[in-house]
Amino acid sequence: MENCIFCKIAKGDIPSTKLYEDNDMVIIKDINPQAPIHLLLIPKEHYANIIDMSEAQAQTLAKCLKKLGSMASELGLDNGFRIVSNKGSDGRQSVDHLHVHILGGHPLSEVMG
Ligand code: AMP
Ligand code: ZN
Repeated sequence: MENCIFCKIAKGDIPSTKLYEDNDMVIIKDINPQAPIHLLLIPKEHYANIIDMSEAQAQTLAKCLKKLGSMASELGLDNGFRIVSNKGSDGRQSVDHLHVHILGGHPLSEVMG
């Protein structure tokens, strides 16, 4: 997708702090962290959110999440973490390319909404 900041990050056209990359996704540091560890899992394929997601994209996302689980320790998330994917205006999604926030590094807020 032209003009999609996360497509550009996934391709390397815009710099980011990439912690992991494979054929399906990148994991980068969020530029405006809301916890001591705040990462973004970004599938390389462009789609806006889970409503727009195809069956094949859902399977790829599941594979990415499984990989994330296997990397938790090396990402500094031994004590646990929270994953969140915002959708639409009530969800306060600001980038219309599906991404999963990964938050951790300290005890997170008990409030989610
Ligand atoms: P959301 O509001 O759920 O769409 O999340 C978008 C996230 O992308 C926010 O947490 C931003 O801080 C983050 N973000 C925006 N631009 C960049 C960038 N160039 N590099 C890293 N993170 C970014
Ligand atoms: Zn995109």
